[in-house]
Parts: sequence; structure tokens; C-alpha cells
Amino acid sequence: MEPVSSTEILLGTSCFITIYDMEKPAGASNALSEAFSRVSEMEQRLSMNITDSEISVINRDGQGPLSQDSLEVIKRSMEISDESDGRFDFTIGTLVSLWGIGSRGTHIPTEQEIADALATVEHSAVELNGNTLILEREGTQVDLGAIAKGHAADLAKEELLEQGVTSAIINLGGNVQLLGSKPDGTPWRIGIQDPRDSRGQYIAVLTTEDTAVVTSGIYERYFEEGGIHYHHILDPDTGYPVWNGVESLTIVTTDSITADGLSTALFAMGREAALEYAAAHDSVDVIVVDDQSNVYLSDGIRDSFRMTDPDFHLIEE
Ligand code: ADP
Ligand code: MG
Repeated sequence: MEPVSSTEILLGTSCFITIYDMEKPAGASNALSEAFSRVSEMEQRLSMNITDSEISVINRDGQGPLSQDSLEVIKRSMEISDESDGRFDFTIGTLVSLWGIGSRGTHIPTEQEIADALATVEHSAVELNGNTLILEREGTQVDLGAIAKGHAADLAKEELLEQGVTSAIINLGGNVQLLGSKPDGTPWRIGIQDPRDSRGQYIAVLTTEDTAVVTSGIYERYFEEGGIHYHHILDPDTGYPVWNGVESLTIVTTDSITADGLSTALFAMGREAALEYAAAHDSVDVIVVDDQSNVYLSDGIRDSFRMTDPDFHLIEE
């Protein structure tokens, strides 16, 4: 069949899905609209920017019920918060709004404002009672911005599979989820973005199939002031952007929620901890690009990764 594509603006970003092969090709445009519906329904439940979403109600009232699907996202967020020792923290909402990076923001908060916001960030100060999420601290706000797009991509993939799709690419604002391989059975070739070039320049190519490939980087949303680069991944200890020399970190794994959550978590943990994490988890691979244009890989993808930009150097450890 000829590939069939569709684009929608959802989750505050451009979302693309292309179907390359399916059991009954006549159903392609229906499959696309069903997949986008799943993404949009999830956005209605989880977005902080939609006033009556489940998350907005919880953030307003300090507690509230979660649907089954949202409950799974919260549980996964809790796990990744624990696993990263709080470097990833889904209760970071107040700090994120204070900085406003990528939305309102070009202002640097005061020390006092940062200290006040930090006092509300604590992933262990929440309780799940059945399907009710309770925020125990005054002022805590849940922010699923680091993981929701990933979950949405998983839902889109699930829908496409149910519709008989056998080959597709789902790209939700750079969160890539591959369904199967190319129609001829060979793997996809996915470009790894130049962290300093938002125009889609690639520095390397990864050959892979049926995986999620998700990147967190310092040039997604940021502002600069006094020669300092303020980006949107914040350190739950200092209250400032994470400045650890990592410019972008890509996760390659099976499901997108894990890829998205870990892209932010391992970014915040730093290069060495990220590579150690991948070494300890067979199903997780990582690509780290640092501010010296050095590129580090976990072992699982060494053979399927090829640098294409001579300005970047692959470090063999
Ligand atoms: P993108 O949204 O650009 O794909 P990420 O997946 O890395 O990037 O998510 C970044 C978003 O996650 C921020 O915009 C913010 O909403 C939220 N966030 C920022 N810092 C943290 C953190 N330390 N832990 C959890 N969420 C974070
Ligand atoms: Mg993420």
C-alpha cells in the first residue's frame, strides 16, 4: 500500500502518524483517526492545561479520583520517581510553573521563590487510596509533562495494532514509537537529532524496529540570560535547570511511557548514572550527547548506531 499519514496538534505539540502497512489498507484513515482519538482522550484526562482534567482537579483540590488509565500513568511516574531517587519527580508542577520555561517564561525566579516552590516538590508526599490520589503537602502540583506523551504513543500503538496495522511510525513531538519494521521486513533508520539544531539536523542514525525512541534535550524549551542557558528539565534538589554537561539523552526501549519517563530521569541523573542504569537493564538503551560534542552509547545499540556528523565524537568506553 501507499503510506497514509496524518498530523494533529495535540499535547501542545505536532503529532504525526504514518501507516506503512496493514491487513486491510482501506481502513488506514479510520485507523489514524482512532489512534489520534486515543491521544486526545488521554490529553483530556491528564493535561494540566485543561481545567476539568483529572490532574487539574487533583491540583486544585489536593485530591481526586483517577480513571484506570490515569492510575497506570501515576503508578509508573511513582516508580520512576523512586527509581531515580527523586531526580525525576512528578510532583514538580509548582516549580515548573514558577519558571514558566517554554510557556510564559523568560524570568529567573528569586531564591525565596525557588525555596518556596521546592518545599512542595516531594514524590513520596502523595498517597494512593484505591483510585484516589491525595497530595499531602500544601501547594504540591502534579506535572506529567515528562511522561504523558510517551503514554499517549503507547495508546496510539495499541489502537493501531487493534486496527490490524503491521507497520507504522508514531511521532508525538519527537517521541517516536515504531510499530513493527518497514513493510519489506527491514528495520527503520531513525535519525538522532543534533541537540543544538532544532531544524531536524541529524548527527547519527539508529537502525531499529518495534521500539520507542525518545529524546530529552536542553534545546527543546529554554531561554538565555546573562550568557546562561535556562532549559526545561529542572533539578528537584536545587530548583534550577539541570546543568550536568548533558545536552541530550535518548532512550531506546520497548514501550514509550518508559522511554519518555526515563529520558527525563536519566537526563537529570547525568551521564555516568545513565550508562550504569542502561547496563543494569537489558531492555533499556541510552545515547548521551554532552557539551563537548561527545557521544556515549550503552552496549545494546553499539552495532546498530552510526555517527553521520563528523563534528560529534563517539566515545568507546
Ligand atoms: P519534552 O517535554 O521536551 O519532550 P521531557 O520529556 O524531558 O521533554 O519533559 C520535560 C517536562 O517535564 C518539563 O517541561 C516539565 O513539565 C517536566 N519536568 C521538568 N523537570 C522534571 C523533573 N526533574 N522530573 C519530572 N518532570 C520534570
Ligand atoms: Mg521525558
